[in-house]
Amino acid sequence: MSTHRVAQVAFAGGPFEIVERDVPRPGPGHVRIAVEACGICHGDAMFVNAGLPGVRFPLVPGHEIAGRIEELGEGTQSTGWRVGDRVAVGWFGGSCGYCAACRRGDLILCLNLKVPGGAYDGGYAEAVVVPADALARIPDALAAVDAAPMACAGVTTYNGLRTSSARPGDLVAVLGIGGLGHLGVQYAAAMGFETVAIARGADKADYAKQLGAHHYIDSTAGTPVADALQSLGGARVVLATAANSAAITATVDGLSHRGELVVIGADTEPLGIAPVQLLMRARTVRGHPAGSAQDIQDTMAFSALQGIRPMIETVPLDRADEAYHRMLHGAARFRMVLTTGTG
Ligand SMILES: [Zn+2]
Ligand SMILES: [Zn+2]
Repeated sequence: MSTHRVAQVAFAGGPFEIVERDVPRPGPGHVRIAVEACGICHGDAMFVNAGLPGVRFPLVPGHEIAGRIEELGEGTQSTGWRVGDRVAVGWFGGSCGYCAACRRGDLILCLNLKVPGGAYDGGYAEAVVVPADALARIPDALAAVDAAPMACAGVTTYNGLRTSSARPGDLVAVLGIGGLGHLGVQYAAAMGFETVAIARGADKADYAKQLGAHHYIDSTAGTPVADALQSLGGARVVLATAANSAAITATVDGLSHRGELVVIGADTEPLGIAPVQLLMRARTVRGHPAGSAQDIQDTMAFSALQGIRPMIETVPLDRADEAYHRMLHGAARFRMVLTTGTG
């Protein structure tokens, strides 16, 4: 293969076009991956719409990548990675190694974090070149289309929960059961938490139970969500996956004493939380980013162990434009995953 196809946008907010490009050679410290699957994440829009500084066009987004190593660049032979290894790359697309966060080992908070689709061309493509430190090994039990969403949506929810103060048996609520939340509910239940799913509408109750939720709160039912949580004893942790500041705010009074609101839903509107809501019950609010390459590998291993899979809809790479816009307009019921047909 001397050329490969990518789905690129030529200008900010532009449509996707399928373009043939020369296959890139991996430079020192890098490997080339033959992409089998790439999830479509709402975070891709930040790059497509040039919402972050330094974004260059034409741009190939995609940071939920799963495939096989095709070529090792100089200096990567000693890393333990081999041609043919099945690997995933997520929002964590490599770190600088010299900023304060890196030097403290907090790689996902690297000041110079390389996000695929922003720092370099991402996974809406048949091949991608990535730094070797971004690689996470896919367990045999996981298909590429199931592994891809684990690299962003999966690790974000899994890590958000496992780094929280919740312990087995504690009441943990997951706000939203979309691309992030449907994985969050499964992880919460598998981690041994008494799991509450919160979403809009009575019709999602059965789905929430299928995902493993022990309780379901319909946020449109009339009872305030905070009251519904308190009637269950109060949540030790709320994992807020819905990108909706008003809905996130409505959970705060449902936290128990020393309860923790873990925010992963990316809204730009302010949260409407009064200081007294936090201080009288010693509650905390924290944001949570995705996770490092090792965290992604842990997420996939746990998913394989517990039989957890994303709900996905696969779409060929050729139809990236249609799939991306369905995601953008909330028309995708499940995680959209682009496939190249090489898996
Ligand atoms: Zn993402
Ligand atoms: Zn760094």
